Amino acid sequence: MSTPTKFVLDESKMPRHWYNIAADLPTPPAPPLHPGTLQPVGPDDLAPLFPMELILQEVSSEREVPIPEPVREVFRLWRPSPLYRAHRLEKALGTPAKIYYKYEGVSPAGSHKPNTAVPQAWYNAQAGIRKLTTETGAGQWGSSLAFAGALFGLDVTVYQVRISYDQKPYRRALMETYGARCLPSPSDTTNSGRAVLAKDPNHPGSLGLAISEAVEIAATHDDTKYALGSVLNHVLMHQTIIGQEAMLQFEMAGDDPDVIIGCTGGGSNFAGITFPFIGQQLRGKGKTKQRRIVAVEPAACPSLTRGKFAYDFGDTSHLTPLVKMHTLGSTFTPPGFHAGGLRYHGMAPLVSHLAELDLIEATAYQQTECFAAGVLFARAEGIVPAPEANHAVKGAIVEALRCKAEGKSQVILFNLSGHGHFDMASYMAYSAGKLTDQAYDERELAMALAGLPSVPA
Ligand SMILES: *Cc1c(COP(=O)(O)O)cnc(C)c1O
Repeated sequence: MSTPTKFVLDESKMPRHWYNIAADLPTPPAPPLHPGTLQPVGPDDLAPLFPMELILQEVSSEREVPIPEPVREVFRLWRPSPLYRAHRLEKALGTPAKIYYKYEGVSPAGSHKPNTAVPQAWYNAQAGIRKLTTETGAGQWGSSLAFAGALFGLDVTVYQVRISYDQKPYRRALMETYGARCLPSPSDTTNSGRAVLAKDPNHPGSLGLAISEAVEIAATHDDTKYALGSVLNHVLMHQTIIGQEAMLQFEMAGDDPDVIIGCTGGGSNFAGITFPFIGQQLRGKGKTKQRRIVAVEPAACPSLTRGKFAYDFGDTSHLTPLVKMHTLGSTFTPPGFHAGGLRYHGMAPLVSHLAELDLIEATAYQQTECFAAGVLFARAEGIVPAPEANHAVKGAIVEALRCKAEGKSQVILFNLSGHGHFDMASYMAYSAGKLTDQAYDERELAMALAGLPSVPA
């Protein structure tokens, strides 16, 4: 094959800044509100949970925020991450399209999440914080923060959603190997957890509830802060290193994507690959290439395609500020499906805002078609994707087959957000024909949406 398969950037080319899309938006997103006063939250309201540097990033409108050198030093363990041309997948599909993927599974924890875990841990350590609490669903975020905490000498406690704690002992083992403490949520260590356990001792837990437990501990302990793995502005900004690297790698390849695709749970890896490209378009004011930007979400938890754009809580116990986002309602519990990282009731306010501005498209797919796409990808390219990433693979294959039907040779880029080596039980279930497509309960969705907090316009 004459054209390269891998585009590898030199370490010296690793970006020195994060990109902040707030600087280029045509209109600003709605501010987060204090749930009591319904007034915009100020830095002081967030100070119990986050160190000031991260709060300032959350509200910053600077286009470029420097990446601290100690953070870049850690990033060199796996960054820049490779951009691949999927020659063998193109052949398997018989498509005239060119398919590229940016691979974030090369990080120590196996996904894009250390891109924000490392700076979050560093800023906390710089502020003199000794302990961090967080939640984890599938275990990817918990292991990323455990890894980052180990680097900077922080005690990390992870509330892992009960059902995942029971089903995924190896993710827990990884967190403990990095030195973190992992508790099943609901737990008896918080009021939020105890209240749920009193009603149902066998409660399977949820991401919203695990967030409540972690936030409660941080809010009631002076030496402890909280870290969130997605959704917030600063988390999305930390992920923009992905898209900035991809731009440089496309220069090496002499190509430019027509369609960019990412899977969306809370929206962070999608933002990471797409925001630098969207920013270029916004600054170009129609004079630069207009690309299609496609978010792919699970049909069983479809916040962007079925949710309401409204103010809602980020957690179940209603301890967080109200944020305006596409939401299924904070009490919505999605049916069991095998992409734990995509089981959140809301979507990042910035991604939701871009959807409202028609700057991005959204689609939803069922889990069996996503696993079929992941298996096809593994047999062609070798990498076994995380179940979450299978949604992006599915989205890319749909676009490649559209190009085939239309006889078009477009350039497709998708983010392969992580590998699936800790998720092989779900691949076993898929191979054994035991995975079914789960529909969410329409009545439960209607109830959860009816319970949205009322906020005067
Ligand atoms: C957590 C996770 C996701 C979903 O989170 P986003 O914030 O939407 O990126 C996607 N893929 C992998 C591999 C994950 O671990």
